[in-house]
Amino acid sequence: MDKETIQQVKNLLQSPKNITIIGHKNPDGDAIGSCLALGEILKVTEHTVTVMMPNDFPHFLKWLPQCENIVIYEQAIEKSKEIIDNSNLIFTLDFNALSRVGNLGDVLMKATADFIMIDHHQAPDDYAVAMYSDTSMSSTCEMVYHFATSLELQHTFNKDIATQIYTGIMTDTGSFRFPATTAITHTVIAHLVALGANGALIHQNIYNTKSPEQLQLLGVALKNLVVLKEFNTAYITLSQKELDDHKFKKGDTEGFVNYALSVNGIKFAVIFIENKQESIVKISFRSKGDFSVNEFARNHYSGGGHNNAAGGKSDLSLADTVTEFISILSSYKEKLINAH
Ligand code: 5GP
Ligand code: MN
Repeated sequence: MDKETIQQVKNLLQSPKNITIIGHKNPDGDAIGSCLALGEILKVTEHTVTVMMPNDFPHFLKWLPQCENIVIYEQAIEKSKEIIDNSNLIFTLDFNALSRVGNLGDVLMKATADFIMIDHHQAPDDYAVAMYSDTSMSSTCEMVYHFATSLELQHTFNKDIATQIYTGIMTDTGSFRFPATTAITHTVIAHLVALGANGALIHQNIYNTKSPEQLQLLGVALKNLVVLKEFNTAYITLSQKELDDHKFKKGDTEGFVNYALSVNGIKFAVIFIENKQESIVKISFRSKGDFSVNEFARNHYSGGGHNNAAGGKSDLSLADTVTEFISILSSYKEKLINAH
């Protein structure tokens, strides 16, 4: 964080505030972990804090300390609006544009509170009075750690905060293996473990709590894998029926797209997941090396994210989405063949 932003945030936090902390739609471990941790840090320093998510979060995060106090906008719209009306400071964490919070975005656009952004996605929008945006960061959770130390709030760190921050760093780095994992990330992790974060237990809670149906759905996804060798690309589809047949719940397909990326020689991996309720196909993109899926998602699927992990959506049917995708791919053939 630069000195000017630190001073600006210090000024904003000088007197007790009504603060709302918001993560992105379909929140993941990093969004939930970072919001909860920042909430705990600010509560200790005499502010009134609400953590709010646009919609519900997956069961594998429902053990996190303080997660029972999260207000879910979709499940309590009037209450949420009131909380936002009464806020004089709103933190937005782990996203870069108000369109990333679904319908809650319209409420935020009308809010009179000052906004502070903490985020590691590319090309952030300009709605915050103070912005801590760093695309080189492993995770928003790591940024919350640096945020707290920059503001000299380390004295607030405890086992719960360490657990929340550890969780988001672990999930966003694919358990410390993605390129944004730095020496500093590991130093932060070491401190979190010293504070009481139990890495083995956190891993168990996140990754070893699957239902048999979820694993069988993975089986279906793997059977549906298509490899387009001439484009160094592999994709997976899941229809609404396949999801329904396996009692799909939010978060059940987390990580599936990585199996497509694990095929030897594949540089670009995609999963298309039909969502009949929202009349969209939700798409996750992953890549190895310098093929930017952020750019691809932005250009063609109203999406975005990072260089090697991004998301977006299509309003076509599942079959038409795939057909269109393959036709778009041909204009990326050179880039995909030369990716390294
Ligand atoms: P995932 O594929 O795991 O849902 O998301 C991968 C990355 O892309 C995450 O950093 C996520 O925040 C971002 N992302 C996912 N979906 C969208 C989207 O629809 N729009 C934008 N701008 N980013 C997305
Ligand atoms: Mn993140």
